[in-house]
Amino acid sequence: MYTKKLLFILSGFMLFMLSACTGNDLFQNGKSEYSIVVSDEASETERYAAQELQHWIAEVSGVELPITGLDGGKEGKRLIVGFNPLVEKLMPEKGKPGDRDDAFTWCNKGGDLLFWGGSKRGTLYSVYSFLEEELGCRWYSSQASVAPKRDSYHFSKLYRHEEPGIIIRDNCYLDVRENAAFSARMRNNFIRVPRPDGAEGLVAGSAEGYWGVHAMGYFISPNEYYKEHPEYFSLIDGKRASEYAQLCLSNPEVLAICIQKVKDVMRREPDYLIYSMEQNDNMKPCQCDACQALVKKYGGESGIMVWFVNQVADAVKDEFPDKFIGTFAYQYTRHAPKDIKPRENVVIRLCSIECCMLHPYDECEQNLSFQKDLEDWGALAPHLYIWDYTTDFLLYCTPTPNWWALQSHIQSYRDNHAIGLMEEGDYQTITCELRELHAWLLSKLLWNPDADVEALILDFTDGFYGAAGPYIRQYLDLEKRILLREGMHTGCYASLWHDMFTPEFITEGRRLLTEAKAAVSGNEELVARVEKEELALCLLQMEHLPLDGLKSGADELFAQLVKKFGVKKMTEFQPQYDVDYWLEKFSKLRRTADETPLLPAQDLKTGEKGVKWTRYEGKFKSTVEMLSNGKVTAQGTRPAIGIDETDEADHFGYVFETIAKVETEGLYELRVKSDDGCVVLVDGQNVLDNDGSHSVVGRTEFIRLAKGLHRVEIRYFDDHEGQTLELQISTPEGYQGTLPEANLYLPE
Ligand SMILES: [Zn+2]
Ligand SMILES: [Zn+2]
Repeated sequence: MYTKKLLFILSGFMLFMLSACTGNDLFQNGKSEYSIVVSDEASETERYAAQELQHWIAEVSGVELPITGLDGGKEGKRLIVGFNPLVEKLMPEKGKPGDRDDAFTWCNKGGDLLFWGGSKRGTLYSVYSFLEEELGCRWYSSQASVAPKRDSYHFSKLYRHEEPGIIIRDNCYLDVRENAAFSARMRNNFIRVPRPDGAEGLVAGSAEGYWGVHAMGYFISPNEYYKEHPEYFSLIDGKRASEYAQLCLSNPEVLAICIQKVKDVMRREPDYLIYSMEQNDNMKPCQCDACQALVKKYGGESGIMVWFVNQVADAVKDEFPDKFIGTFAYQYTRHAPKDIKPRENVVIRLCSIECCMLHPYDECEQNLSFQKDLEDWGALAPHLYIWDYTTDFLLYCTPTPNWWALQSHIQSYRDNHAIGLMEEGDYQTITCELRELHAWLLSKLLWNPDADVEALILDFTDGFYGAAGPYIRQYLDLEKRILLREGMHTGCYASLWHDMFTPEFITEGRRLLTEAKAAVSGNEELVARVEKEELALCLLQMEHLPLDGLKSGADELFAQLVKKFGVKKMTEFQPQYDVDYWLEKFSKLRRTADETPLLPAQDLKTGEKGVKWTRYEGKFKSTVEMLSNGKVTAQGTRPAIGIDETDEADHFGYVFETIAKVETEGLYELRVKSDDGCVVLVDGQNVLDNDGSHSVVGRTEFIRLAKGLHRVEIRYFDDHEGQTLELQISTPEGYQGTLPEANLYLPE
């Protein structure tokens, strides 16, 4: 037995030795015999790919390989970049890829290494893939590249071929949008940046993507046409709309003009893949008889739209056989039509704006209607293009725990024939939560929707955050445990006051980020990467737990960080919540806390433990009305403050009275959520006023209490519909929760 085993081990060892002898060393101990070979006929992107290969190999090995033409370099010692006659000779079975084909291959033929794909991007992606897979290079952000140093790189048998999962990968995060080189390295192919030399065309590695949005209004505007041809525009309540509405799609002249104008654009700007023929951004489709007959015939407003756009697509097909006409499934056209099918060269752009971001579309009740539209369109249309939302646009920094749903969303799109995805992210500011991870993960999933998300998160957190990586993963686990607990859903317009944020999440999140920062102290760059994530937690703490926030200096840290990172903008469309709003709010809060007067202890007699309650009935709009007009119907005692009424109960109120035993002198925080009104009095002073007839509204106030006994009175009423009364405190000792029963006594 031993002999056999030994023989087996020996033969394995010899095989290894043999391959080592027959293999190839790209570089060893700072030396290399290799050259990078690129044809004179190569595209601009392919020449750039050769430079990138040269640059990153030099970063890893310390050796700068020469770049030569096809007849340069020694046979068996060449890195051949681009599909050229040398590749054709070495790999005769491979055909030339289309210029716009993003698929790529890299492999060896003996000692030569070959990299090729479509000349516009595929070859460049081939080079990046090799650098990532074989040499361990990473591009985590435009500022965070990793090229691990090594003494040698040996290879014997290499072959890799990949194809994109999504054809147009539009990653709309600021860092990607503003950095063409980073965008290309991440294989995002839609980027709107001018070339550095100002010349016409697209920078290396960028793609054609989408020309225009809401183009119908651009092609036929009321300014240009209304005076002569009011009949081109929507008939609304018997009148042709002269303002920005929609077009009368059944009018053949409207069709002829749209065809002519889109052709002009396609000739003038031929680099795009899809040309917009999309409805305007309003809900005013034409009500004329001819239009409505088509709406009826094709099962809805999307039916007449497809009927119209199909005719445009037919008219451009011969001249532009590889281009698409795009239209929306948006607002009044979101549901799929009946008895009509978009043409092969039509792309339907569907918008996920109403969806819950936290859950797969087929698993979340809030997403079922979108899932149906997606499937209906997927079954009908040869090509979809999705406008997807991946962060919080109300306040970009709001934690958005969609890490575990992104993959399923992208897979749903792919499975329903999406050729393009626009992943709308923090395109205006750097404050989006874990923005680099969002941008990186999305890039990886757009290329390969089946990639291993957990492995990617591990790769990124260790690579980008260094020793702080494990803490960032703990933070992500915390999000999973608390923010994704049962019953939580959120769209792309959540707020800091979303129910998913609990005191535990905020306190624990702040602690983890503080530890993360400590783990990389001394490394300014890594500290800054962690610090940026503290912005959101500081805001959350100051909003939900201001006393803790002031004690831990969350307001000061926030002010420091926005200054350090130059942050001004925090929200997409509500400038009243940009940085200055928060700075002002927090400094006011700190002043209030400092100036809150001390309420001295009272000389009171206490009875048993408990709370005395008095119930009122009647219709009131405030607690003042309740006390003056309400009828007292019952009285009693209970261990804590609270109401037990069911949802059906209306028109009632309570006064709770108790004596609180305060153990520590200091600043206390009182948080109330009530539906309808509620007022809190301590020692006869109104310390929190949430009065009035309203739905659930939260309010927080500070009170400074001396050690000893204090009289507490809570006046609450319910007008109609739902009823809520929640009362919580934070104490100087750090307790957070309801008023502790052990400290409440019945007044004598
Ligand atoms: Zn009409
Ligand atoms: Zn959901």
